[in-house]
Amino acid sequence: MSHKHPVELGEIAGGGLPASRFELPSITPDNAVLKRLEESCSTVLTDVTSRADASRDWWPISIKWAIGGSVPALPAVVAQPASTEEVARIIAVCDEFHIPATTSAGQSGVCGGAVPLFGGVVIDMTAMTGIRDIDDTSLTVRAAAGTFGPPLEKELRRNGFTLGHWPQSFEISTLGGWLACRSAGQYSTRYGKIEDMTRGLEVVMADSTVIHTGFNAPRAAAGPDLNQLFMGSEGTLGVITEARLSIRPVPESSDNRTWIFSNFLDGLEACRMILRRGARPAVMRLYDDTESTLHFKTSNGCALIIYDEADPGLLSWTLQVVDEECASHHGILGDEDLVSQWFEKRNDVSALAPLYKAGIVVDTIEIAASWKNLPGLYNSCMDALKALPDTLYASAHLSHSYNDGACIYMTFAGQPAGNEEAESQGNSELYYNAAWRRTMEAVMGAGATISHHHGIGIQRASYLRTALGPAWPVMENIKNSLDPKGILNPGKLGFSSYICATPWP
Ligand SMILES: Cc1cc2nc3c(=O)[nH]c(=O)nc-3n(C[C@H](O)[C@H](O)[C@H](O)COP(=O)(O)OP(=O)(O)OC[C@H]3O[C@@H](n4cnc5c(N)ncnc54)[C@H](O)[C@@H]3O)c2cc1C
Repeated sequence: MSHKHPVELGEIAGGGLPASRFELPSITPDNAVLKRLEESCSTVLTDVTSRADASRDWWPISIKWAIGGSVPALPAVVAQPASTEEVARIIAVCDEFHIPATTSAGQSGVCGGAVPLFGGVVIDMTAMTGIRDIDDTSLTVRAAAGTFGPPLEKELRRNGFTLGHWPQSFEISTLGGWLACRSAGQYSTRYGKIEDMTRGLEVVMADSTVIHTGFNAPRAAAGPDLNQLFMGSEGTLGVITEARLSIRPVPESSDNRTWIFSNFLDGLEACRMILRRGARPAVMRLYDDTESTLHFKTSNGCALIIYDEADPGLLSWTLQVVDEECASHHGILGDEDLVSQWFEKRNDVSALAPLYKAGIVVDTIEIAASWKNLPGLYNSCMDALKALPDTLYASAHLSHSYNDGACIYMTFAGQPAGNEEAESQGNSELYYNAAWRRTMEAVMGAGATISHHHGIGIQRASYLRTALGPAWPVMENIKNSLDPKGILNPGKLGFSSYICATPWP
């Protein structure tokens, strides 16, 4: 994918500014403030195209609106800082004049996190790129937050290293976006999520001070870990400008397997036992029968795709554990070609645009639960989605696994019956909202997490408070203390000091 969005807004908006869907107070800096911003940052854009492009991300509902010629919300200004100093100067102006500052980067977020709900300034981080330092003794890299996946990994590989972080959105997302959303890559079972790889951050705070979190050390017992505070904060607590991450040498060898299970729960059990014995195959993805048929054309059963890369001794032991556990859980060894098929298509998202354009509502929901709760939760989420009369399709796969539990990644699609009039009354939105609500209720009922790696953004904002229960005020106090004027990405994560923007209450 070379473009940021599956639907190009320029063509739709016909050159003029598209309409804004959220009727929230939108703050527009006056000319004097604009001049201050221009003095603070090398690139400040106010043209129609730049503002429209910065108005949305991959949140499916905003893609649907874009097809209809509107966007969630429009910024007044897009600033593209080239350095940490420029970020700090922009934030200082926003702080002084109480202007919302929404950080955005690859705009590949799928929950509306980068949407500038209250207008103001979008801080586009994609001009701050590149590796600043590789420590090949301690195995760490320091890189700018706006660096996209391909240049980061290419430069590491040129030096014989890999980060091991491969989200499906690798080509369209940045280091800062991964950190701000607690991203998970496809090799996470061996290497962990982005928060497991992070050793230090540089952050511009709401009062424009620049801080460094973490230590030049692998672990610390020096108070709560401030790295973890900023990771997952989705631009609401500070702007991440740089990070130091742990890397590893490119592994010597790799191998793969496919196993087929007659039912999803047998496959889940095999995966649990593989982890329990200490094996960590980089990729371990179990598809339910609906997804196995769709992705691999398997006529019967659930496909488990295994890929690992490591030192040869470790690799062969890992694959031995995989084979033993799969065989003893009624698996049948499958065609290795399925792994090649998976590699070929793993970052291909071209199937989405035609669905959106055909008026089909499609989205994904990723959650995580303990192994004990996972089978029941898979069944209850699938039942909840399939019970909606307009659902065409609901499916899931196991995508990221740990000793104690795993992430289930669900996909649903629906086409609300109706005519043009029904559509204008928002049938698609009603269906979409009902699908999310039912799934979130099932997940919260099981005490599982409402998101494993996509984050909260706008879409999950109204659920976070319930999910955290009595711990919620702690989050709110942190926000109020670090950003007392509420200028950083207002309207996200459901903070009560702002209008909690939910699309359909
Ligand atoms: C097709 C597709 C596949 C995907 N697959 C995966 C996947 O496999 N794994 C996964 O984890 N995610 C996946 N995602 C979701 C998305 O790519 C991630 O959330 C990613 O981390 C977002 O990065 P970005 O640079 O695009 O951030 P943006 O979308 O621009 O921003 C996301 C959020 O982070 C904040 N933010 C961005 N940069 C900074 C910064 N420097 N400082 C502070 N806040 C910041 C923004 O304010 C916003 O709240 C997928 C998305 C798509 C469209």
